[in-house]
Amino acid sequence: MSAFTPEEIQALRSRFPILGRTVHGKPLVYLDNAATSQMPNSVIEAVREFDRTKHANVHRGVHQLSQEATDVHEGSRDRLAKFLNARRREEIVLTRGCTESINLVANTWGRQNLRSKDVVLVSQIEHHANIVPWQLIGNQTGSTVVPIPVLDDTSLDQDAFLKLLEGAAGPVKLLAIQHVSNAFGTIHPVVEMIRLARARGIATLVDGAQSVPHFAVDVQALDCDFLVFSGHKMHAPTGTGVLYGKFEVLDALGPWQGGGDMIDKVSFSGTTFHEVPYRFEAGTPNFTAAAGFTAALDFLEEVGMEKIHDRDTELVAYAHQELSTVPGLKILGTHLPKAGVVSFVLDGIHPYDAGMFLDQMGIAVRTGHHCAQPAMERFGVPGTIRASFAMFTTETEIDTLVEGVRRVNKILGGR
Ligand code: PLP
Repeated sequence: MSAFTPEEIQALRSRFPILGRTVHGKPLVYLDNAATSQMPNSVIEAVREFDRTKHANVHRGVHQLSQEATDVHEGSRDRLAKFLNARRREEIVLTRGCTESINLVANTWGRQNLRSKDVVLVSQIEHHANIVPWQLIGNQTGSTVVPIPVLDDTSLDQDAFLKLLEGAAGPVKLLAIQHVSNAFGTIHPVVEMIRLARARGIATLVDGAQSVPHFAVDVQALDCDFLVFSGHKMHAPTGTGVLYGKFEVLDALGPWQGGGDMIDKVSFSGTTFHEVPYRFEAGTPNFTAAAGFTAALDFLEEVGMEKIHDRDTELVAYAHQELSTVPGLKILGTHLPKAGVVSFVLDGIHPYDAGMFLDQMGIAVRTGHHCAQPAMERFGVPGTIRASFAMFTTETEIDTLVEGVRRVNKILGGR
């Protein structure tokens, strides 16, 4: 039985106004949800309503508007803590996005804890956002970034991982690992990997950019020190993000960016800092978008995270089955389970060229290296064509994609 009836999917689609538009005269087929997801009416309205009636700076004013804005902003923190099953609301740091969250950890925890020759373990198919901040901080601390190799099916090589944990490349201080690969959709066994790391006293960061939008993520069950993700990939407005950190871990960290709101007392003889999480939230936050973030979480929970995951699994299975009938097409990322992403290459056809042709047919897919150049290098390709799904994606849209790919194959590949 399908996770949703066809009527339920149509009802879901009708909540996303953008799905009603055309592109190049064709109905939009939006298959780029892993890059940015779309916003339902309830999120768009929550933002508008905030701007119409409550728009004022937070934490600063005694006036009514500021207090109402603060309630909305802080309400999103409460909502996120509940969504992630965090122990305390103070464990939620509101950021501009996943990238900023990782840079925050690198510049606070990393600066305080990494020493010369220490190893930060990442996966070989990591997003650049979880490689480059560790390289930058390594330039200052002398620590290095070491990749856990992946097997041909894009799963992580667990034997190699164990050897690395045991110090094969140097003493490991941090495991910074994606939960789900944005390039291939592979769901990694992070619970077990965190357990193995923690047993050796190694700190852990999970990049949840592609997992938190697709299935229930419980930080207590994960038992990671940090979890990071972006709002715009989970139907919330852009410019919103989260750094979850265990309270005692966050509390031991000094600040990163300095400015308003993150201080306790400022004087020219020295400054003291605010408590967690405000210590990490310098300057005016994106309070308007916070209203939308809360609405996005309400929307996701109303639809149901379990159903969203089940629907993902159905769509991935259907897309694998249909795409593998196309001559010259190879799917990268055959290891299951996956979360809402199918990545493929067409023999002799550059992904960019394919993407441009598909766009002319109204189909929005991502083409290129997906900010994961080492992953592309591992598989010897310049990039892939990536279709990524949401709960509103239909089998008919996947059929349109497959038909489009067949046409690209004929025009550019002569097949
Ligand atoms: N990590 C993963 C796995 C991602 O897929 C992305 C975005 O695609 C990021 C990090 C960076 O997210 P953002 O650009 O929203 O900061």
